[in-house]
Amino acid sequence: MNQVKRADMFRRFKEANPNPQTELDYTTPFELLIAVMLSAQATDVGVNKATARLFPVANTAADMLQLGVEGITPYIRTIGLFNAKARNVIETCRILCKQHEGQVPADREALEALPGVGRKTANVVLNTAFGELAMAVDTHIFRVSNRTGLAPGKTVLEVERKLMRMVPRDYLLDAHHWLLLHGRYVCVARKPRCPDCLIRDICDYRPKTEAEQPVVGKLRQRKDSDSGQGAGKSSSKTSDKTASKSTSKSTRKTTSKSGTGKSGSKTTPAKRQSR
Ligand code: SF4
Repeated sequence: MNQVKRADMFRRFKEANPNPQTELDYTTPFELLIAVMLSAQATDVGVNKATARLFPVANTAADMLQLGVEGITPYIRTIGLFNAKARNVIETCRILCKQHEGQVPADREALEALPGVGRKTANVVLNTAFGELAMAVDTHIFRVSNRTGLAPGKTVLEVERKLMRMVPRDYLLDAHHWLLLHGRYVCVARKPRCPDCLIRDICDYRPKTEAEQPVVGKLRQRKDSDSGQGAGKSSSKTSDKTASKSTSKSTRKTTSKSGTGKSGSKTTPAKRQSR
């Protein structure tokens, strides 16, 4: 993907979703840090359900530390790896209280020194809580970067470094959220929604998916195979006529839906209000 296309890609993302946000609910850097720590191998929805009950009870490092591992476990039990996460959260709170006056440091090295905080989590906190230009490459961003040709790479770090170089600077602050949302809702792992994609004409991915077969066509096929027809001349003629009419109608509908520009807003969800 060349420079002109890269700029066009982010221009379209911005037009469709001018202010992309994380889907994790948080109100402070501390809440964001804990939510991101809990989100490893878990859904944002699942984490939000847990933190909606946990944060009203403890949303500072000191309060969380006081709650202890046993105290927070019941709140996060529904999240994968909750035992290890509970231990990491409490150890992190201990270090925050001891070394950072209970505050989340806006510093990569200090963040990555916290238990359960890796490069990706540090990047999310630096970017989302502190407004730094950082790129947290998760599975979605890794996939989108490779498929589109935006920043192909074999490792997460390689992709992160390329993205930091390739994404036009004006878009760098929000690029992480645009790419993540695009990967989560449009350029999904198994069957990317290419017909609905607002960057399909500039995406390098070759085996793009086609529009779904119209429902009427599917029903007709099933009916034919159920009745063993398809070879019957008179009935197939009538059905063909009906199907062809419906198909062209449905195709028109699909085509207009999948246009670029405004329809692109359909490809990324409405921004959520963080708590
Ligand atoms: S056209 Fe398809 S492969 Fe390319 S970004 Fe869009 S959904 Fe992904």
